[in-house]
Amino acid sequence: MASPFTLHRQSSQCAARRGEVTTSHGVFQTPVFMPVGTQATVKGMTPADLKNIGAEIILGNTYHLYIRPGCELIKEFGGLHNFMAWDRPILTDSGGFQIFSLRELARISEEGAAFKSHLDGSALFLSPEDAVEVQETLGSDIMMCLDTCIPYPADLNEARQATDLTARWAKRCRAAHHRDKGQLLFGIVQGGMHKELRAQATEQLLEIGFDGYAMGGLSVGEPKDLMLDITEYTAALMPRDYPVYLMGVGTPADLVEGVWRGVDMFDCVMPTRNARNGMLFTSTGKVVIKNARYQRDQRPVDENCTCYTCRNFSRAYLRHLYMAHEILAATLNTIHNLHYYAGLMAGIRKALEEDRYEEFRREFYTKNQ
Ligand SMILES: [Zn+2]
Repeated sequence: MASPFTLHRQSSQCAARRGEVTTSHGVFQTPVFMPVGTQATVKGMTPADLKNIGAEIILGNTYHLYIRPGCELIKEFGGLHNFMAWDRPILTDSGGFQIFSLRELARISEEGAAFKSHLDGSALFLSPEDAVEVQETLGSDIMMCLDTCIPYPADLNEARQATDLTARWAKRCRAAHHRDKGQLLFGIVQGGMHKELRAQATEQLLEIGFDGYAMGGLSVGEPKDLMLDITEYTAALMPRDYPVYLMGVGTPADLVEGVWRGVDMFDCVMPTRNARNGMLFTSTGKVVIKNARYQRDQRPVDENCTCYTCRNFSRAYLRHLYMAHEILAATLNTIHNLHYYAGLMAGIRKALEEDRYEEFRREFYTKNQ
């Protein structure tokens, strides 16, 4: 099948590459960071805010939308794009990770995942076919296969069972996918921290054939070195002419390292969640805005930042909003953090275009010691 990925430039220094992905709501440039819009909104941001920051694609969470407001309602609006007034690409997860996160409320069988709504406790069921149908109804540009996540640590046997089940579910997702709707479907490689399972899972997905390949089950509590080792190992097995997506990762350094190892797409709640907790990323490290030392500080959060927040507001004002629990604190902090992530990715893409990613990476660590 035709790949949605176009390679612009392969780094001569590492596995990193500069490219783009084409979807039915337009093209996005890679490597890319996708802000997380769990409940049909990136918390605190209007679509105009997101565009000003330069977001080309956002993520929606199938589990949350399935429970509230429900697919039927979103269908009445012609899909998620219309419902939330966002006309650029959307990637939806399958719901697997959220169901997995519920643990005691979920039961996994061959047929699918039985779980209880975290809102009202009602019994629900999601099969691989359901996960595709729900995402087709939402109308996302990139859909994800239903997978079973593996906790960390997990022994080989436990990890193997979950990995095999994910592969069987992936086959069912592919069979249920209506390709004529113009939506892309990505497979998810599981396997825990076991390389032989990661290799087996990748091979199984390649046999089925997807529009892109994701790595799941990373950044689930394992040491950072292990996460990067498994990422590097798995990314190297993936076909180089398709997009590679590392799910749920991570910190700015994780993005720099993931790109180095060949990853094209990332998502994480970190910039948005940290913003709401008053933790701001800057070109010289983190700023905890509630600290007393910012009480009379007239400087912007980051003197090198060109975001709306930094162009207009002082640390003292942002600290005041945060201490007073004003909703504007969440909005201004999120604008800054998403701008920081977007700027980091833009810098990465530029360095790749100039084939100087090794130098970029070194400079990043010099600034963020
Ligand atoms: Zn800023």
